Amino acid sequence: MKSVYCSIITIGDELLIGQTIDTNSAWIAQQLNTIGIWVKRRVAVGDVKQDILQALNQESEQSDLIIITGGLGPTADDITKPLLCEYFGGTLIQNKEILEHVTNIFTIRKRPMLEVNLKQAMVPDNCTVLFNEVGTAAGMWFEKNNKVFISLPGVPFEMQHIIRERALTKLKNYFTTPVILHRTLVTSGEGESFLANRLIEFEATLPAYIKLAYLPKLGIVKLRLTASDIEAIEIDSYFNELKIILANIAVADTDIELEEAIYKLLIERNETLSIAESCTGGQLCARITSIKGSSAMFKGGYVPYSIDSKVNVLGVNRKTIEQDDVVSEAVVIEMAEQCRTQMNSTYALSVSGHLEKQQGETIVWIGLAMEGKTLAKKMNVFYDREKNNVFVTTNALNLLRQFILQD
Ligand code: AMP
Ligand code: MG
Repeated sequence: MKSVYCSIITIGDELLIGQTIDTNSAWIAQQLNTIGIWVKRRVAVGDVKQDILQALNQESEQSDLIIITGGLGPTADDITKPLLCEYFGGTLIQNKEILEHVTNIFTIRKRPMLEVNLKQAMVPDNCTVLFNEVGTAAGMWFEKNNKVFISLPGVPFEMQHIIRERALTKLKNYFTTPVILHRTLVTSGEGESFLANRLIEFEATLPAYIKLAYLPKLGIVKLRLTASDIEAIEIDSYFNELKIILANIAVADTDIELEEAIYKLLIERNETLSIAESCTGGQLCARITSIKGSSAMFKGGYVPYSIDSKVNVLGVNRKTIEQDDVVSEAVVIEMAEQCRTQMNSTYALSVSGHLEKQQGETIVWIGLAMEGKTLAKKMNVFYDREKNNVFVTTNALNLLRQFILQD
């Protein structure tokens, strides 16, 4: 089957000077991937007519599908629409449905509608409108020389809405695409190079049409098998083998985050969690509560950042801190035990440490408590403050996961 290629052109001076990070391209690429369309090139251009036209010409030579985001607002720097009109030889006409929708938005928000807002209802007469319920800039679908061009607003949630609700179905109907299969194994506890070492034999048995990718993040490595147009059973047999080889460090066999794996585990077991975190400043609680429905398993947390709050609020014994240091095994164990008792949870997780370089080692202690059992682990950290925070929270969540499973 012939592959279908896409170019993504993102438009806006703000992207080129780094004021806005281009998240649209990555999001669009992920969506296209699920329907078997391969993103071949990504181009960013400024709000400059000549540059946009040049990008359109170049990319239509490379790809079957060209997706453009940005430049659709009502302001003077937004030049995409008249430019597309000119490029495809159309005329701007007023679209009644869009006009009604835009007028409605202003009425609901009790805002006066300005002359420039009326411009949002003008669309080229030779495009198919991809209606935008969540904003004022409509998406547009053009066809020229057997190529499809889709123009979308730059605002991420509007762009995403149009892709999800309108563009994906239309693209699936227009192009014949291969079925792409992905299987993702999430691991934690070993670095990428150690994993690669363990997988030398496995990789040698993989057929050329099944690709293995390593996707490392701080404290996590995701391993992804990808193949197109094969039976699911074939990729699954390799994936099962991978799961067996890496069983001791596997977190999940779908592409989820650690916090979601913990959420599922606790819900399944009808158990609860509480957290007392010092150096991570709330990040552990933030990660757990980012999961929808977390209130069913998360009792609450403390951020006792100072010694006084560890003693006065959480109830850690001041003597323990004086004897063993505030960053110590004894202190994180007391923090976890106190937290568990006060929050009345099945498990409590605690952290105390330094996220920035100290004299000698820079260490963090992680503590865990459950009925009749505690555990503590010392970690060395090596990165900057921000990365150490992610590294520590990831390791703490993984330690918690193992603690729950060992129960
Ligand atoms: P525009 O459609 O050009 O008016 O874009 C509106 C806003 O969307 C911009 O000010 C940016 O904040 C945001 N935006 C535009 N392009 C992107 C992009 N590629 N990725 C993320 N945000 C974007
Ligand atoms: Mg713009």
